[in-house]
Amino acid sequence: MEYTNRFDISSIKNKESWASIAADTIIDAHPDTDIYTTAAGISPSGVVHFGNFRDIVTAHLVREALKEKGKSARLIFSWDNFDRYRKVPSGVPELFSEHIGKPLSKIPDPVGSCHTSYAEHFQAPFVEAMEKLGIEIEYRNQTELHESGVYDDAIFHALKERKKIADILLSFMTDKAKGEKGINSNEYKEKYYPIAVYSRFTGKDITKILHYDGDTSVTYLCVETGKEDTVDLSKDHIAKLAWKPDWAMRWKYENVHFEPGGHDHASPGGSYDASSVITREIFNYVAPVFIEYKFVGIQGLGSKMSGSKGNAVSPLELLEIYEPDVLRWLYFRKSPDQSFELAFNTEIYRQYDEYDSEHTEKKSIPFRQAVGFGQIVQWQEDKLQVILNELELSYSKDSIKKRLPLARNWLTKYNPSEMVALNETVNASFAETLNDAQVQQIRTLHDELLRRENPTVQELEKLVYSIPKSPDLDEAQLKKEQRAFFKNVYNLLIGRDAGPRLGTFLWALEKNKALPLLNITGK
Ligand SMILES: [Zn+2]
Repeated sequence: MEYTNRFDISSIKNKESWASIAADTIIDAHPDTDIYTTAAGISPSGVVHFGNFRDIVTAHLVREALKEKGKSARLIFSWDNFDRYRKVPSGVPELFSEHIGKPLSKIPDPVGSCHTSYAEHFQAPFVEAMEKLGIEIEYRNQTELHESGVYDDAIFHALKERKKIADILLSFMTDKAKGEKGINSNEYKEKYYPIAVYSRFTGKDITKILHYDGDTSVTYLCVETGKEDTVDLSKDHIAKLAWKPDWAMRWKYENVHFEPGGHDHASPGGSYDASSVITREIFNYVAPVFIEYKFVGIQGLGSKMSGSKGNAVSPLELLEIYEPDVLRWLYFRKSPDQSFELAFNTEIYRQYDEYDSEHTEKKSIPFRQAVGFGQIVQWQEDKLQVILNELELSYSKDSIKKRLPLARNWLTKYNPSEMVALNETVNASFAETLNDAQVQQIRTLHDELLRRENPTVQELEKLVYSIPKSPDLDEAQLKKEQRAFFKNVYNLLIGRDAGPRLGTFLWALEKNKALPLLNITGK
């Protein structure tokens, strides 16, 4: 019998239609359905990051495709916060290792008291980002669901069928794997229980089930305290199904028709395959249609940062540099079998430009200009507007309002080395390298700036190009002279060979800070 329901995306020629074809597959498999359910989920064991966002996007796009076909459809997202705490991720104090083995919802906030629990600390920013991105989600809090008792019947059913589940799990183990782990099939089957119990003494699942009474009670050993305890699980909701039976059980509980997964769940013989058999054989449910989605990468995050954060960038952090519309567009345009990268470096200029070229009606300010002009006007919107007007660049006010703060974050938080800062004193060592003619050009600029009261941007743009002019230069020579002159001015002002558009830059600078830097006399 075919248990799984993998969607073969590689056979689709027109990749843009993948979600529509997936929706057709789901409708064919379940023709008489009132509400179609697409699902995604995550254990909030650390930063819920940009890769997890692809899980939601994949389920979201299929939900939207179902709706386009006139069907009712929902997206449920499971916070698997009743899962055990496995390890302390980077960015969390090492002393949190004392909580390993507890449910994520029963551990304190890792930072302080900003949230009610460890899980909530990582869930909240993700929820906030999804709201900003306008993605409608029905959340499922697994701790609340377990404690409400809605899973009781399914958990007891799994306990009664424990040997059958053990057989299914054994069927996915090779003899080699069994040998390496020292698993004897008969022994494994006798001792297997599909649940973990959180000890009533320690709150941790470092426990061993000793007996199940065939009804609602189990006896377990709390390994850390050495105590034995018999608990009625219909009264004390301290048990949770192991991952594979748990996934299988929840597909049935929520009527899931579609769920995507990353490589770890998708691999042959992995959790999707095993849960598909369990859901059919134990829970009498047909496995949802499944798509594996590929990796989302990130570039330009300095090694210092990625080291301390383990590249765990949350969607909320991405929204510090990406407009929500642009971030959605980056994720939505790729089919799940295509990987792509997000960018904290100048690659982001290209991504914004590409988005803008497909959305010309928005008349958005190019992101590189928001960065370049933004920093020379100290991120003041009104001053930026003056520059744009004078340079006859017309962009929508809305785009300027949106992109200026994003450009500022991008530059100051993630690319401070690209920031322009005025030299504090005269760059004397550089000035000494200039010949008399070059010094004279700088002096001309200095005197012209001193003389003009309130020059316009246009005036100064004209001025800087006119200073190197001379009747005996042809066009190519003049360009060369201008480039050399600009380079000299930048070195005197900011100690670099290049910088923001020069006339505009000079217009935005405070005269009393800039002029002394240009006040040189040569050798
Ligand atoms: Zn918190």
